[in-house]
Amino acid sequence: MTAQPRSLIQCDLDFDLPGFQAGTLRVPYSHDRSAYGHIPIPIAVLNGSSGPTVLLTGGNHGDEFEGPLALMKLLQALPQKSIRGRLIVIPALNFPAFLQGKRTSPLDGCNMNRIFPGNRNGSVTEMIAHYVDSELFPLADIVIDLHAGGASFNHLPMVLASMPADSRRHDEYIRLIDAFGAPHTMLMDLLGEDRTYGAAVERHGKLFICGEFGGFGTCNVDGLALVEQGLARLLHAAGLTDAPDVPCSGPTRVLRVEGARHYLFSPERGVFEPMFKLGDRVRAGQPAGRLFDPHAPWRAPHLLRFEADGMVVCIRSFTGVEPGDCIALSASDASWS
Ligand SMILES: [Zn+2]
Repeated sequence: MTAQPRSLIQCDLDFDLPGFQAGTLRVPYSHDRSAYGHIPIPIAVLNGSSGPTVLLTGGNHGDEFEGPLALMKLLQALPQKSIRGRLIVIPALNFPAFLQGKRTSPLDGCNMNRIFPGNRNGSVTEMIAHYVDSELFPLADIVIDLHAGGASFNHLPMVLASMPADSRRHDEYIRLIDAFGAPHTMLMDLLGEDRTYGAAVERHGKLFICGEFGGFGTCNVDGLALVEQGLARLLHAAGLTDAPDVPCSGPTRVLRVEGARHYLFSPERGVFEPMFKLGDRVRAGQPAGRLFDPHAPWRAPHLLRFEADGMVVCIRSFTGVEPGDCIALSASDASWS
């Protein structure tokens, strides 16, 4: 078998050197205004004594800001810290999207979280995904990717958990989730989607923790505080740091998305009047909202109903909807087992 050619992205850091280094991933990008140019994506590493490697990423989607801000703030303090193990930090993974505050890249239209494992010879976003999948995931023991609802959603701040396939690691995984200490931890169901960053991490057999910490394409201050404090507690629990100077957390409440019945999709074009709020407890059959026809506003609106009991964890920002748009997501109370 011939070896796979390595990524075309170059990194000016040596992940094996001790101490703190900051630099960039250089994504080759030759275009009309820059024939030999590249896109420099900020990355940093802090390498201590022996211990686990934790990869922290934000800005997988460029319109989600709690993760990038928490990681930028972490980078302010990191050069003065000493740790056990290794921390690799990329505050804004889809950097071109992040600079424009957009979910998808302005360069190729790609959604980073729907193109894994990426493509060495592909577009800019595909190349970044391929680099992460082929170069960074193999280095990591624990991977944490920080999200939010972005421009089109508002999301209750919470951790999204994916139990490792290896059941012998469940206790270790739950200990990390408990240490993070989000008020809610949700077992997500992406309806078979396997092109995500998280699915790729799991194919590498590494522990993966994700989270949604706000939305509306802005920074939720409570979500930001949760990310900062949760990460501090988690890095301590993972053995990298001494006990942090942050409040202890209460127990997390486990929720589970159970298939399409927990999603509320729009069946047609219209203007949606919600009849619920984020965080509401709803019942199957309960009216969720009215969908008005803007071209025939005298026509009776289409009444949409929730299909399952649960708590609403995510609500669409935009009132105008098209067929297939997700208007809300809810989740049931659950347990780890
Ligand atoms: Zn996201």
